[in-house]
Amino acid sequence: MHSPTAKIQDVFDEPACEINRAKDDKARKKGCSKPLTPGAAAGGCAFDGAKIVLQPITDVAHLVHAPLACEGNSWDNRGTASSGPTLWRTSFTTDLTELDIITGQSERKLFHALRQIKEAYAPPAIFVYATCVTELIGDDIQAVCKRAAEKFGLPVVPINAPGFVGSKNLGNKLAGEALLDHVIGTMEPDDVGPYDINILGEFNLSGEFWLIRPLLDRLGIRVRACIPGDARYRDVACSHRARAAMLVCSTALINLARKMEERWQIPFFEGSFYGITATSEALRRIAELLVKRGADAQILARTDTLIAEEEAIAWKRLEVYRPRLQGKRVLINSGGVKSWSLVHALMEIGMEIVGTSVKKSTAGDKERIKQVLKDEHHMFESMAPRELYTMLSEHKADIMLSGGRTQFIALKAKTPWLDINQERHHPYAGYDGMVELVRQIDLAIHNPIWSEVREPAPWEIDSHAEEQPSAHTLSEAAGVAPSKTRRHDVGDFAEC
Ligand code: SF4
Repeated sequence: MHSPTAKIQDVFDEPACEINRAKDDKARKKGCSKPLTPGAAAGGCAFDGAKIVLQPITDVAHLVHAPLACEGNSWDNRGTASSGPTLWRTSFTTDLTELDIITGQSERKLFHALRQIKEAYAPPAIFVYATCVTELIGDDIQAVCKRAAEKFGLPVVPINAPGFVGSKNLGNKLAGEALLDHVIGTMEPDDVGPYDINILGEFNLSGEFWLIRPLLDRLGIRVRACIPGDARYRDVACSHRARAAMLVCSTALINLARKMEERWQIPFFEGSFYGITATSEALRRIAELLVKRGADAQILARTDTLIAEEEAIAWKRLEVYRPRLQGKRVLINSGGVKSWSLVHALMEIGMEIVGTSVKKSTAGDKERIKQVLKDEHHMFESMAPRELYTMLSEHKADIMLSGGRTQFIALKAKTPWLDINQERHHPYAGYDGMVELVRQIDLAIHNPIWSEVREPAPWEIDSHAEEQPSAHTLSEAAGVAPSKTRRHDVGDFAEC
């Protein structure tokens, strides 16, 4: 049986991460995120994190070796999209019961499940996810996968990230390690070219990578593998032959990018496709890296021409929104690359940023925000739901951009809200994505529902009329002015 401990310590020692480099040996051994509180793993466990990274590989069968609940927790909770196979969205689990565990049948059940998947679906590979229960009872998933691979003649990849080992982010990185150990470099492409790149940490949420790929196609740049968004097993297995790489989400897969550089000399940079300037910068850096690796220098001029054309079109389309959004105040509660790339883009169309969360941002992200905002007071690590509610209910922002977990705070405060995280339904990457984002912000802010819901309800007016004298009387007796707005019980949404 292979314990994940050694792999975890390896992942905790990440020289490509500035924060990690600055730590002493003792602090480094503890890892990056706080351990989970038992019973409060709503932010996702390590297994969930591993599955988030690997499941978008669309032609692979993803088998969760666990009691039913683990797969129920993580199934299809992100809006990644596929341009072809749908197998990745089929939910496979060994569905272990107490009887299987007591009678020692779980490894046998796993083997049978692998046989069934092979016979019914014939996928190019099967990924098998370890979970808390199967790790605690000591199942040797590596050995079962090895035996099944020999017997059925296809790659069967063990993913050793049981939930209890740590956070979702640790699971992301362990998934990258599994790709390095078992997938990348196991096949050889027969069409290697000087313009081949990998895009790492891009999840194709709402199909947004499809807004980027045509730009690269026009430049003659081929995406050898986008890991993991809309990926195919073979592309990932051949990705070691790319000439350069862009890392989109560094908190998830920086270990993968760094180790691919060390093993196969694939240089990488961290960039973003959120925002017009960020997209242009990313395209330029891809072209520059390819030239450094031997591509024709003409690609630099072609890239500049494409950027000039696309930026002109995007800014023209955004002009319509400028008078409608000029001076509107935005609160961004997201973090990561979005914390700076969206800030820049929204400021460019005249919106005011009242705050941006830097909870999941790297040191580089924070530095960029400081440069763009020129005032670090608008950066916040994280805001308690109560503070967020107070800020929104006092109308200090006209809209909040965030993930689904904080949406009810905005709605309770009767403030427009837009989902910019993984459950969103619109693609926001690239030039077209930025125009779509601004369009959605405009629709949200100017939705007539807000003036409706901010009016007092009819029964509040009636009761107000009846109760007002006594309220006035009490206020007058206390020597204070009566409140004009209905007070909310903040405790109502403390669970948010
Ligand atoms: S792997 Fe563990 S923490 Fe994660 S869902 Fe399963 S039982 Fe819960």
